[in-house]
Amino acid sequence: MTIANMLDDHEPGLISVFGPDFPFAYDNWLSHPAGLGSVPEPARGATVAVVGAGLAGLVAAYELMELGLRPVVYEPTRVGGRLRSHEFEGAEGVVAELGGMRFPVSGTSFFHYANRVGLASAPFPNPLTEAAGSTVIDIAGRTYRGRTLDELPPEFTAVARAWDEALEQIGFTAMQDAIRARDVDTLKKRWNELVPLWDGRTFYDFVATSPCFSKLPFRYREMFGLVGFGTGGWDSDFPNSMLEILRVVITNCDTDQRLIVGGAEQLPRRLWTLPVSERSPWPRGTTLESLHGGVPRPGVAAIHRQDGLFVVRDRWGTDRIHDAVLATCQGWLLTTQIESDESLFSQDLWMALDRTRYMQSSKTFVMVDRPFWKDIDPATGRPVMGMTLTDRLTRGTYLFDNGQDRPAVICLTYTWMSDALKMLPYDVEQRVRLSLDALGKIYPNVDIASHIVGDPVTVSWEDDPHFLGAFKGALPGHYRYNHRMYAHFMQEGLPSAERGIFLAGDDVSFMPGWAEGAVQTALNAVWGIMTHFGGASHPDNPGPGDLFDELTPLDLGE
Ligand SMILES: Cc1cc2nc3c(=O)[nH]c(=O)nc-3n(C[C@H](O)[C@H](O)[C@H](O)COP(=O)(O)OP(=O)(O)OC[C@H]3O[C@@H](n4cnc5c(N)ncnc54)[C@H](O)[C@@H]3O)c2cc1C
Repeated sequence: MTIANMLDDHEPGLISVFGPDFPFAYDNWLSHPAGLGSVPEPARGATVAVVGAGLAGLVAAYELMELGLRPVVYEPTRVGGRLRSHEFEGAEGVVAELGGMRFPVSGTSFFHYANRVGLASAPFPNPLTEAAGSTVIDIAGRTYRGRTLDELPPEFTAVARAWDEALEQIGFTAMQDAIRARDVDTLKKRWNELVPLWDGRTFYDFVATSPCFSKLPFRYREMFGLVGFGTGGWDSDFPNSMLEILRVVITNCDTDQRLIVGGAEQLPRRLWTLPVSERSPWPRGTTLESLHGGVPRPGVAAIHRQDGLFVVRDRWGTDRIHDAVLATCQGWLLTTQIESDESLFSQDLWMALDRTRYMQSSKTFVMVDRPFWKDIDPATGRPVMGMTLTDRLTRGTYLFDNGQDRPAVICLTYTWMSDALKMLPYDVEQRVRLSLDALGKIYPNVDIASHIVGDPVTVSWEDDPHFLGAFKGALPGHYRYNHRMYAHFMQEGLPSAERGIFLAGDDVSFMPGWAEGAVQTALNAVWGIMTHFGGASHPDNPGPGDLFDELTPLDLGE
């Protein structure tokens, strides 16, 4: 079967997270009636320790169970990982999304599973979208309001145009057309030209040296940093490798995003209780929950290799022997939290894991009595408050309307990097006060505090020993590290002492910060583990490893 006819059943014209580094059609692999593959009968029931019950861990655990293997999931805190939906006390279904909250429709593998477990989604109230209603941009002490870009002063349109032109100069439309058509040759040719050019250069470098932006005053660059190319606040990413940003825009990750009604954490939780399909060798009705007697095993404290098997010690000192291991926790934890034999990975891979750079992120939410922001200010005839982007402390304020008669939710502040660090030492109460103070300067006549009900909630992912950061944000020069981690599931060429332990999740992905990357890398690991046990994909439905040589990410050499 060729790549071309394998792609027949994807929705034509849809931009999806199809590469650009490894343009494998995960959505087609998942939806093919033949399933992902099989393992030989003697391998059935072999145990795979899955470190982490986040999205990558549960997607992989579910698919390994489907194959007839026995995943054993370890988790020190709660199922869900960085999909963490905090339900406000006494308000069923009213949630604050402390981790992932907006999911691009281009994340077709993510939505494959969201649909599979019956989750509903709705448009996310991003700036200048219909779902936001009204957007307020407050920059350098001046406040602008609009529902669409056209309603803002022309400088904002000039910024948007400069960004479009800058992207066009590196072949943006041609790459998007190639993704739409799933034209692997064109996509790879174009993308592989950009990788060596932009791996070593930052997002800021791209903006500052682009002919269109450099013609414009510095203030326009500041506006771009604030409003970005869709969801706001992108100046926190200015030091990142430009390749990170290009992947996001080429695959439309920052456009057409949806929220999961009732909270995204439901996805990993429902995978935990999803019965196997009829294809699985496990008896009808088997779930991850039933295989575990209801709860995951405790967090992992150590991983050692012994006689070709793995000894996994949990935090309370119990050792369990497993046939294989899949680590989905943040890579740094393999050195800070989990005592891992150094021989499990090559020194080059350790280098990649340890050099991984995480972005910091903080969010603070309050529940309010109702979506009062929609009240009309008689003086202006506009809603009293809107989705707000500002250069003040709060940076991004998002408004979640659960219906006129239900409590609503405000994400008072969502920040990254240095803006997140400003909040780090403070408790939730102080964070709310600082946020209300900043918003009070933008909305002097709106008494937000008078609407707050229930307890506020906050998070700083970098402050949590189970995460140490929000998500990977690769720095210039990190492409090779990405490549080493990403390609590790192809284990045929590895020394036997390094085989049988796999990696998956956000920071292994070329698309960090997007749940889609966690899902795709989990599927790579499933293929790797399936073949490790002597299994194979169905001949009509080749998997990522079967096509790896053909689609392989560009090797920049060491
Ligand atoms: C603030 C924030 C905003 C985001 N926004 C978006 C967004 O809008 N859209 C989007 O698509 N994505 C977003 N993401 C990214 C998305 O949430 C992640 O890509 C995805 O949830 C990562 O899943 P994972 O399974 O790779 O990792 P995780 O969810 O981190 O799962 C790893 C698990 O390992 C566990 N673990 C840690 N130590 C151990 C141990 N010793 N033993 C066993 N287990 C251990 C952790 O507790 C965790 O549950 C966001 C993330 C953050 C933090």
